Amino acid sequence: MPALRDVVGHDKIKRSLSCALATGRVSHAYLFSGPPGVGKKTTGHAFARALLCGQSETDACGYCDDCARSERGVHPDLHIIRPQGGSIKIAQLRALQDSAAYTSFSGGRQVYLVEQAEKMTLEAANCILKILEEPPRGVTFILVADETDGLLPTIRSRCQLYRFSPLPEEEVYRVVEASRGGDAGRARVAARISGGCPGRALAFLEGADKRDQMWGLLDRLAGERPYGALLPVDGLDGRDDLEAFINCAVLFFRDALVWRIIGRDELLINVDYRQNISRLADIYSEREILDILVALEKAARRLAGNVNHRLLLDTLAFKIAGLGDA
Ligand SMILES: [Zn+2]
Repeated sequence: MPALRDVVGHDKIKRSLSCALATGRVSHAYLFSGPPGVGKKTTGHAFARALLCGQSETDACGYCDDCARSERGVHPDLHIIRPQGGSIKIAQLRALQDSAAYTSFSGGRQVYLVEQAEKMTLEAANCILKILEEPPRGVTFILVADETDGLLPTIRSRCQLYRFSPLPEEEVYRVVEASRGGDAGRARVAARISGGCPGRALAFLEGADKRDQMWGLLDRLAGERPYGALLPVDGLDGRDDLEAFINCAVLFFRDALVWRIIGRDELLINVDYRQNISRLADIYSEREILDILVALEKAARRLAGNVNHRLLLDTLAFKIAGLGDA
């Protein structure tokens, strides 16, 4: 959980929040809105941390007990409420309806941070509204929402609203670099396609990591035919990984087929894997690729049912390595 000063971009908002802290004019309720991944939740957490810091007046000091606790996510006066099973339900707010709940552990402030506040059920929203109508002393609500249209207008009007705008590409790049380091070229691509939202850039890179992992497996199966299928498979764990492998393999073999037929990269999906695709296209004939695509499609359908994952993966591995029929 960063401090406000560590949040990249959103300077005007950070200045305004620091100013509220410094002057002691903190609102009872804030609403942070903006596109997904833009940084409003990160800022919300940083602000919550600053509010609870026992030392500094303008930001989290990073050294006191309060900061250490909020950093570890165990501060007793920081309450984080997020959707469970798609919505925020009244049962999650029960504690809020009991005024005793507002007694702070440390005698200071209490912070309620509501993530994806637009997902509150009407009942839950009414519960929050009731509290905001007569806000208890020393309690601050930070509502974070992708879209404010989903919130009751009566809640919106009781919050101090901050709208988060997309960041310039360079700032997104800084966030990606700071949190992941690594391949600068890929970080640049991620920043470029993020639409100014660091969260999107990071999600893209996570997907890219998965693709690298899946390519590694596929490359081994294809490159060491037929013995590749007999090597132990590491890193594939459970249904989600198997599904990711099948999805990636379908796209890689699809690209290999395209490459064999037209030999140019403008129709490739994994265009950044051009060399790998071309290698795959050298190893397999068109007939073999079509057979593998059928086997992958069959496997995807079997995966939806009750199937032994290990067996399914072995069957696919044998097929891709050119052993037997799947
Ligand atoms: Zn502190």
